[in-house]
Amino acid sequence: MDHIRRALIAAALALPAFSLPSASRGARATEGLICTLTRPSFGMPHKGEPLAPAPEARLAVGWIMDTVGLTPNFALGKANFDRKVGAYAVIIMGERRIVYDADLFSWVEGSPNWRETGIMAHEVGHHLGGHTRTDNATQHAQELEADRFAGFVLAKLGATLPQATRWAQDLSEEGAESHPPRRQRLIAISDGWRHGKSVR
Ligand SMILES: [Zn+2]
Repeated sequence: MDHIRRALIAAALALPAFSLPSASRGARATEGLICTLTRPSFGMPHKGEPLAPAPEARLAVGWIMDTVGLTPNFALGKANFDRKVGAYAVIIMGERRIVYDADLFSWVEGSPNWRETGIMAHEVGHHLGGHTRTDNATQHAQELEADRFAGFVLAKLGATLPQATRWAQDLSEEGAESHPPRRQRLIAISDGWRHGKSVR
């Protein structure tokens, strides 16, 4: 994976039967964890190049970037993941990519839904927060920052708090070495949502 220059940061959705590389396996069971893409050495969760995304994915990212007044300049893609990752953000050859698992995303035609938009906002948050530019080990702090950003964005897009936190229902309850437990992430998303509601 020598073409991957920077860290991979993935959104964690809670799905069972996923195994970490043995070197990263902690003392606790990892059922429910689906994200290990924190270092390039873990590799990509799919073979080959991503495919063109659903139009709704582009629409969702456009809406997300509207909330911060920036023009989207991400390369979006979808793929059939061989690990339960959900989505990831990465910089490859200077290109900021966001790729989601086609099997785990259910776009509503013509109108991006809150769950999928929330996950995409989390990935955008990794890029805008500079998390994809480093290999450092402060993974939990970065995940929570991206979660707060997602909550903020969804508030700006008009989501209620239950709508803004919908995507977090799929997150790992226990968390992992790479990701905080769901409870902490729900708090972060909610904090971001309240921030979005309070800032005009
Ligand atoms: Zn993440």
